[in-house]
Amino acid sequence: MYVLFNQIIEEVNLEKSLRNALGNNEFALYYQPQYDLATGRIYSFEALLRWVSPQYGNVLPAKFIRFAEESGLIIPIGKWVLKTACSFLKSLHDRGYNEIVISVNISVAQLMQNDFVEMITNILNEVSLDPTFLELELTESIIMETLDTNYKKLERLLQLGITISIDDFGKGYSSLSYLKSLPVNKLKIDKSFIEGIGSNKDFTGSIVEIGHRIGLDVVAEGVETKEQLDYLSQAKCNFAQGYWLGMPVSADEALKQLEGI
Ligand code: C2E
Ligand code: CA
Ligand code: CA
Repeated sequence: MYVLFNQIIEEVNLEKSLRNALGNNEFALYYQPQYDLATGRIYSFEALLRWVSPQYGNVLPAKFIRFAEESGLIIPIGKWVLKTACSFLKSLHDRGYNEIVISVNISVAQLMQNDFVEMITNILNEVSLDPTFLELELTESIIMETLDTNYKKLERLLQLGITISIDDFGKGYSSLSYLKSLPVNKLKIDKSFIEGIGSNKDFTGSIVEIGHRIGLDVVAEGVETKEQLDYLSQAKCNFAQGYWLGMPVSADEALKQLEGI
């Protein structure tokens, strides 16, 4: 009982601090490279949100995204993420790395906004970024649970040239055959399958194969060993991301990775 009470107080305090975090400039984006397995080169960076709180230190999304979603704060925070990530990518393009793509995670509350597509196009215009360099990551459950409401929005985004990637694929419940009818063009296999490589090899390989058969690019996330990477290359998986290839790093460090420093 006492433990529960303390936990509630802690959560209330965390939420209070979170309310001021955007205004106080306490958010930062880290960038994790995604490699093109055919060329061995960096294809894109995924933007990952960090909260650098004076009170709590470095807070990972697992600790605060839920509060941000429940309180509605994810709307302004998510907009800040998109703007910051697109500006970062523009700065890379201006330095000559003009084929790199940026991936941004999107919460269900953001996608549900009536003006979601407009918000995205406004940011792309402000930053002068071609939509084909933006990739939005939406979890399988978000896509499936809100498909009726959001089908048209996702179609519009695809028409604009934006890539829609199904994040954490395999954790949810959509059947592979159903994927064909979804307005998405990329599939990100959940880490749990990559962990299973070695013990359960055939399964990851089959996801890659079926993904390709229905016209989707396939990414593997959570690649932590050379064995997993070799397996994925052999399976003709298009892209890979994970600690083995590169940790999430600051914008400066991400630039250094491109420069090969
Ligand atoms: P996610 O989109 O599935 O992101 C991948 C998570 O796995 C990241 O954790 C990343 O640091 C971690 N990771 C990368 N490589 C490896 C690996 O090889 N092994 C293991 N075990 N983990 C790896 P992170 O940064 O803590 O983010 C956690 C989740 O928070 C993300 O999962 C995403 O759902 C959410 N998130 C992060 N940034 C944002 C954001 O800007 N907006 C929204 N709405 N959600 C975000
Ligand atoms: Ca993601
Ligand atoms: Ca994921």
